[in-house]
Amino acid sequence: AVEPNTVKVEENLLEGSSSRSSEGCEIFAIPEPAEELPKVSVVKRGSLKNVWDKKHSCMFCFKNVNKMSTHLQRVHKKESPVKRVMAMAKGSYERRKAWAELLNQGDFKHNYKVLKSGSGQLIPRYRTKNKSAEDCVVCSFCKGLYGKSLLYVHYKTCSQRKGTANARGRKGEAVRQGSMLMPLPSNVSEGFFSHVVARMQKDDVTRIILNDSLIVKFGERKFCATECYTASYISTRIRELGRLLKVVRLKTDMKVSTLTQALHPENLDLIIQSVRELAEFNEENHHFRKSSLALRLGHSIKKCASVLRAEAIKIGDEELVEQAKRFDSLFSGNWFDYITEIQSTSKTVFNQQTQKKQNVEDKPKMRKKMKRQPWSEDEINAVKRHLSDCIVTGMVPKKAQAMKAVAAEPCLRSRSWHNVKDYVYNLIKKTKEK
Ligand SMILES: [Zn+2]
Ligand SMILES: [Zn+2]
Repeated sequence: AVEPNTVKVEENLLEGSSSRSSEGCEIFAIPEPAEELPKVSVVKRGSLKNVWDKKHSCMFCFKNVNKMSTHLQRVHKKESPVKRVMAMAKGSYERRKAWAELLNQGDFKHNYKVLKSGSGQLIPRYRTKNKSAEDCVVCSFCKGLYGKSLLYVHYKTCSQRKGTANARGRKGEAVRQGSMLMPLPSNVSEGFFSHVVARMQKDDVTRIILNDSLIVKFGERKFCATECYTASYISTRIRELGRLLKVVRLKTDMKVSTLTQALHPENLDLIIQSVRELAEFNEENHHFRKSSLALRLGHSIKKCASVLRAEAIKIGDEELVEQAKRFDSLFSGNWFDYITEIQSTSKTVFNQQTQKKQNVEDKPKMRKKMKRQPWSEDEINAVKRHLSDCIVTGMVPKKAQAMKAVAAEPCLRSRSWHNVKDYVYNLIKKTKEK
């Protein structure tokens, strides 16, 4: 195990934040070399012995300090929070609790900075041998960083939480509350984050997606066309792209690490190879085991190329415009010939797909795959507000009615009109049975 070197961390952090400071357009420029890709790790426990090497980040000067209360009293005694604690009786429970609170605040500020900049080491409340950044979440009361699986244990004893109104929460409430406090990646809009990203599994694919501005932009565009796509449909599509990028990264040893880089005329073969690998292409009979995945990826890549071109025009990067344009024409020529000639079965699917609108074709498929999402109180109330007539009269709502309800209520955004209709249908059935 590598012994964490906290001084190094601070250097990394500063470098990371300065190179990413001018947000917005620069994310679409060709990114930095692979070694400097943002990385977030968690400080690990060094040895089995209880060594006093655990450092915390000071909330005032961001220095890494061993004994926080001593440091605060020596260096920051003029700050009012420190003054307040110093006035408390020495050795009292109150005083200890207040010191812990200041300590957590410093660590929280540090952790927030690390997550926002995307590089550095997180300081957890308790160190373990192996904890990844995805496993950690902040306690929404004391701001300490805990492992997700153990946050509920901490919740029972959290000193800041005692005596607050919501003594008992729903299952998973602690983690949900905590993740709201963590910073959003700077390139993700809030609505897209809460409806699509927050529901996704927190794994390496999700991290790849969030670190790739082009995939995020692609997802946001789908999300803005909300009428036709459900949140789970969008997340499936962007996860496919994330998996593709993961394969591309592995194949090139991280030399090509973003989708923007991958969509280069030179990398066309690389993309075709990667899609073949993902969709399990059989060299012998020239057959994709997952032909629909290959087709969907083809459409997504084409769409991404046009998104890239639009964004490049927006920021006035002539070179990137040219790159995207050339890739698009090459890809459209090669790829679709390639796929359709090789595989007659997918050709029929392909033709169907181009003839019909995608949403019409894909929706029923997606519905089967969708995980059951329990209806929240807000959602139920929203449905009742709009479709009370249907519920009272026992008439199942028509498509137009259901769509109107979905469009009117922001909280129903993640539901399709099918979901709403089915919900009302079940509600009517239930009342009839009584
Ligand atoms: Zn300090
Ligand atoms: Zn807590």
